[in-house]
Amino acid sequence: MAKITVEDVAQAGVVGAGGAGFPTHVKLAAKADTVLINAAECEPLLHKDKELLRAEADGVLAGLAEGMRLVGAPRGVIGIKEKYTEVIDLLRPKLSRGMEIAPLRDAYPAGDEFILVWDVLHRAIPPGGIPLHVGAVVMNVETALNVSRADRQPVVEKYLSVAGAVAQPVTLRVPVGVTLSECVAAAGGPTIPDPNYLVGGVMMGRLEENHDALVDKTTGAVLVLPDDHVVTRRYRQDWSGIARIGRAACDQCSFCTELCPRWLLGHPIEPHAAMRSLGFNLVGEANVRGTVFCCECNLCTMVSCPEDLDPKNVCTQNKRRLMADGQRYENAPFNPQRAELHMENRKQPTARLMQKLGLRQFRNVGPLVKDLLPASKVGIRLKQHIGAPCEPAVSPGETVRRGQVVGRRPVQNGKPALGAEVHASIDGTVTAIADGVVWIENK
Ligand code: SF4
Ligand code: SF4
Repeated sequence: MAKITVEDVAQAGVVGAGGAGFPTHVKLAAKADTVLINAAECEPLLHKDKELLRAEADGVLAGLAEGMRLVGAPRGVIGIKEKYTEVIDLLRPKLSRGMEIAPLRDAYPAGDEFILVWDVLHRAIPPGGIPLHVGAVVMNVETALNVSRADRQPVVEKYLSVAGAVAQPVTLRVPVGVTLSECVAAAGGPTIPDPNYLVGGVMMGRLEENHDALVDKTTGAVLVLPDDHVVTRRYRQDWSGIARIGRAACDQCSFCTELCPRWLLGHPIEPHAAMRSLGFNLVGEANVRGTVFCCECNLCTMVSCPEDLDPKNVCTQNKRRLMADGQRYENAPFNPQRAELHMENRKQPTARLMQKLGLRQFRNVGPLVKDLLPASKVGIRLKQHIGAPCEPAVSPGETVRRGQVVGRRPVQNGKPALGAEVHASIDGTVTAIADGVVWIENK
């Protein structure tokens, strides 16, 4: 098999499929001693990465091998929950030299790169850092699969879990650019009269009012939830209510801080201090500087706070204001000893999340459906990644083939900007280019 190059990965438009959308070719152009496959998948109800490992083990391991070769890493580790013994047993005999499996506890958050690097490598990434600062490159399972194919297939397919109140919870293989409602229909449709679509997961997802929103390279899940579900209600809370109730009801117990994974890692983030700042004015003060290190895991809001307040949103409001003001937190204090002391014994079991968030009523996702979901119309977003949006590379009326580039990275200072090319996911005709989407139909 031909060796994959960093340029192949760039041309194939590979980006972090776990939700971040960071262009993978940039990561693989670096040097590191370890490549970590992130199969932690700690969001309740999601099973896409586990099912993908089961169905495409050889491809994922080939992607890991290519990643190790490209960054010069002698070591490759797959971080996966220890409870998935069947998948671990399937993988073990297939591991090449330098590869190993790191079994993880069934806890949240485990898939946050900072936590994964700590759990697997016992290296603490400093505040504001990235895994590369401690010698690691982290790739999602699906990203590794896409890397393994980069010399022959661009990213035109997406795997995602459809779960919650649907007839048949399932993991699907779909063309990039289909709608969320097509995915939900493929899972047998909603089983409730008032479906809400949560994209991404109950902890870090977002409510999507437009049920025909487009699946892109980073969409990992659609959860269907009723109006009166505790998670739906939490996501519907508006900021003025969050601030008003938080200011009145927070008793400064500091549980939110004591269980915050980034605080446990030694970063200077204290959500209880951000809550306290609500008392200074109605929107909180932007000078609670540590909020810039909040990873938005939502643990403090969904699990830690005994008063059901929303420290996560208070932190993110502060963080956005600080960023909008252009404020940086240079030379932030860092106390990795805290991770040594407390990280392990303060992990929050997934079972606790399931119980507290009313998720036990939903069935687990079944095995991956390997057949590609048929589609006669897709919308390819020109920005599906961190970086600059692509510029259209086609025009309305043009015939395109599956895999053809329809959006290219813009050139800045003589070089392609940070980003990733986007490609047609079906054969067809470009019917329109509008609002950052290339529409393709095959009638
Ligand atoms: S856990 Fe809740 S009540 Fe306690 S300090 Fe944090 S926000 Fe306030
Ligand atoms: S969301 Fe809450 S628990 Fe998670 S990193 Fe931010 S402050 Fe910490």
